[in-house]
Amino acid sequence: MSDGEAAAVALQAGGGPAGPADADDPQEAPPADAAAQGLQDIAERLMSSGHERPEQDACPICFDLIGFPVAVYSSINQCCMKVICIGCILAARQRGIYDRCPFCRTPLPRDDPSKLEMIQKRVSKGDAEAISFLGEQYLYGNLGLSKDIPRAIELWTEAVDLGSVNAHYSLGFVYYNGKGVEEDKPRGIHHWQRAAMKGDVDSRHNLGRVEHKNGNYELALQHFMISAKMGYEVSLDGIKDMFKEGHATKPQYAEALLGYRDAVEEMKSPQREEAKRLRCLYSNLQKTSVGERGQR
Ligand SMILES: [Zn+2]
Ligand SMILES: [Zn+2]
Repeated sequence: MSDGEAAAVALQAGGGPAGPADADDPQEAPPADAAAQGLQDIAERLMSSGHERPEQDACPICFDLIGFPVAVYSSINQCCMKVICIGCILAARQRGIYDRCPFCRTPLPRDDPSKLEMIQKRVSKGDAEAISFLGEQYLYGNLGLSKDIPRAIELWTEAVDLGSVNAHYSLGFVYYNGKGVEEDKPRGIHHWQRAAMKGDVDSRHNLGRVEHKNGNYELALQHFMISAKMGYEVSLDGIKDMFKEGHATKPQYAEALLGYRDAVEEMKSPQREEAKRLRCLYSNLQKTSVGERGQR
C-alpha cells in the first residue's frame, strides 16, 4: 500500500493509524506535513474521480450503460464474462438465438460443472473478471463449490492486481461487514475508495453511508450526489432523507433528482423497456451478486 492509500484509509478511519492491514508495511511513516498533504490529495481525488462508470458496466452489444440493479437488468455469460443487457438478450431471442451467447456465440453451458469449467479456463488465462467472479462463487458456495471465503479473498486480491473494480468492491464488502473474515472497516473502506475512484457506483454509495453514519454529512452528500447522478436510486433516496433531516438543501436534492433522471433516461431503450415488461422470462438469468449489489 502506498503512503497515499494509507492516508486514505486513515482519513476514513478518523485520522487514526491505517489499521492492521498495514502492520507489515515496511515503508516508514511520512513526515506529518507530507501525511497531511497526502490526506488532502486523496480526499480531492476521491471526490473528483470516478464520476463515469467503468467500461464493463456498458453492454458490449448496444454499448449503453446497464440500469440498476445491474443483476436484474443484465446477465453475465461465463463464456466471455461479458455483462449483456436484457434488451440485447431479448433481441437475440427474437432472432432465434436461445442456446448461444448473444455476444461471442459460444453455446451456453448446460449445468454447473460446465459453467465452472468455462470460468476456470478464463481464470487460467488471467482474466481479471473471471477471477473476481470465481471469488463470488466461493463466497456463496455456488456452482457446486464449497463455501470458502479465504479462497474468495485470495482470488479477489489477485483480480484487484489485474485491475478488477468488482473485486475491490467485494473485498470492501467482506472486510467492512466482517463476512467470513475478521471485521476490518478501514480496510473495507480502502477497497471501496479504490473502486469508487474507478466509477463503481455501489462502492461510492457505501462510502456515502459510512460518512453519514459518522456524522460527516457534507462528505456523505458529496458521495451520494455522485452516485445519484450516475442513476443510482438508492443514493437519490439517501439525499432525499438528508433533505428531510435538514442535512441537504432543497436545491441540492433538486440537483440530484435532475441528474438521476438524465442518467436513467440514457440507460433506457425500447428493447430494454420491452424486456423489462417480459422480465419474468429472464428471472433464471440473474447472476449472483455480492451483497445483493445494487439492490440495497
Ligand atoms: Zn445491450
Ligand atoms: Zn459469450
